[in-house]
Amino acid sequence: MKRIVILRLGHRPVRDKRITTHVGLTARAFGAEGMLLASDDPKLTDNICDVGKRWGGDFYVRNNVNWKTEIRKWKEEGGKVCHLSMYGVNLPDAVSDISECENLMIVVGAEKVPFEIYELADWNVAVGNQPHSEVAAVAVTLDRIAATDPLKKEFNDGELKIVPAERGKKVIDNRQE
Ligand code: SAM
Repeated sequence: MKRIVILRLGHRPVRDKRITTHVGLTARAFGAEGMLLASDDPKLTDNICDVGKRWGGDFYVRNNVNWKTEIRKWKEEGGKVCHLSMYGVNLPDAVSDISECENLMIVVGAEKVPFEIYELADWNVAVGNQPHSEVAAVAVTLDRIAATDPLKKEFNDGELKIVPAERGKKVIDNRQE
């Protein structure tokens, strides 16, 4: 897969601050190129971009997008859309189809998702047919559809880099001389 973007719907700035931040950070860590936020929360956008600056890579967040416009544009350019919903087809039964597509938009909700999304999506996919969390749904999906192990992804040009250690914390801090 060449490109993966997350479209986050229904974010309520006060109530969903932590969970939407975690959706963005999880998407970044597991290989998505960016997140489109269909709500106006510039502070959240900045916070996620700050993490990117410290830890590397070029993950982006676009604040306050119009979800219908973004989905239409993505599809016109040949991309496919996968809406994550516990009501959908279970991921193990859809993963081989999804993995074949080159550019994928993954849609996750917060509050009730507009029904139109179910119709616009190429796939409505459940990460197991039980209610849980958009963070878990994004993580498992990105892991299952990946061609190469997302946990081995390297992030370049960050100020901070962890040196994996059996005990304690080892961090290279490029801000120090
Ligand atoms: N009550 C909302 C509704 O009925 O649409 C859903 C709330 S749920 C906490 C928020 C989001 O998490 C959903 O829109 C969906 O994207 C994701 N989600 C939760 N459980 C899921 C599952 N089992 N499979 C896929 N996505 C899931």
